[in-house]
Amino acid sequence: MIKLIGVTKVYKTGVKALSEMNLTIDEGEFVYVIGPTGAGKSTFIKLLYREEKPTSGKVIVANRDISKIKNRKVPYFRRNIGVVFQNYRLLPKKTVFENIAFALEVIDTPRKEIRRKVLSTLELVGLEDKANAFPHQLSGGQQQRVAIARAIVNRPKVLIADEPTGNLDPETSKGIIELLDEVNRLGTTVLVVTHDRDIVQSYRKRTILIENGCVTSDTSAGGYVSWHES
Ligand code: ADP
Repeated sequence: MIKLIGVTKVYKTGVKALSEMNLTIDEGEFVYVIGPTGAGKSTFIKLLYREEKPTSGKVIVANRDISKIKNRKVPYFRRNIGVVFQNYRLLPKKTVFENIAFALEVIDTPRKEIRRKVLSTLELVGLEDKANAFPHQLSGGQQQRVAIARAIVNRPKVLIADEPTGNLDPETSKGIIELLDEVNRLGTTVLVVTHDRDIVQSYRKRTILIENGCVTSDTSAGGYVSWHES
């Protein structure tokens, strides 16, 4: 599903964010990506949804070489990928329903189908009674559930969550990871970038450690991996 072959990313400033990185993630996997600040985690993720291109090497996502996708084709490519961020990034003046529907409207889905898909996704994330609420009327955990609903309503092949529990208390965080686990069980490949050691140790999954732009540890059993915050 995801393959990086000798990927190096040097930004215009001369900073080398990734250095000859190699990695394979198969369809249906659930993977944590951990590592210190500045290690290259965000750069890695930006390559996956073609926010950035590699300087050299190959990035293959859903059978596409992302360097070869023309700019005008990027929105179509991104239908394969859902992304969730630490700060939810919901549209504040739109209701929960509208926030999720928006992801479908931009790709011309008929109205009836939008309604059906949004409501069934809201049910999956446990917020069927919040369709008409506005983001500010929800707790952080509920807002993250809406963001996850928006990210998966198109049934993407891959869901990327960048610090999804960064703003949440431990109990709420657990609920979010359990939801991501359920999304994974329904067939979506899930990548979770996290600093949350409790989560990594409690819900054991393959854990990839990135340091200095390389994968320095990759444990399929998951659990504790020692790393230092800089
Ligand atoms: P992480 O997500 O692990 O904190 P990043 O991928 O954000 O790491 O950053 C890796 C390195 O690349 C850092 O040295 C960072 O300062 C640098 N970097 C990230 N984005 C840019 C950018 N757009 N332009 C220049 N340097 C960048």
